[in-house]
Amino acid sequence: MDKNKLKHFEELLRKERERVLEEIELLRPKVEGEGEETINYYPTHPADAGIEEEVKVTDTILLDNLSRELREIEAALERIAEGTYGICEKCGKKIPEGRLALVPYTRFCKECAEKEEG
Ligand SMILES: [Zn+2]
Repeated sequence: MDKNKLKHFEELLRKERERVLEEIELLRPKVEGEGEETINYYPTHPADAGIEEEVKVTDTILLDNLSRELREIEAALERIAEGTYGICEKCGKKIPEGRLALVPYTRFCKECAEKEEG
């Protein structure tokens, strides 16, 4: 991949990282809650679940997803620095730029990602 394109994806990833970080900052106080007891709520009886608790569980899942996304973004930025960005980690082929434009932090080409997901 040429330098300009790499730069473009790097900027894309940095912006995405900022957005994810902002969302994490907003969500974390809601999920962790100051002075509140830790969340050990598992909705075994959905009928008993208070709305507030349901929201909290959703936020926890969302925060989990964002943290995972953040790790992927940072790993992608590392790959840019190492010069391995845009190469499928499984088959070693180039990941098409169209795919990178959609998911700039992807590690795999479409075929390998599909195999990975089963
Ligand atoms: Zn592949």
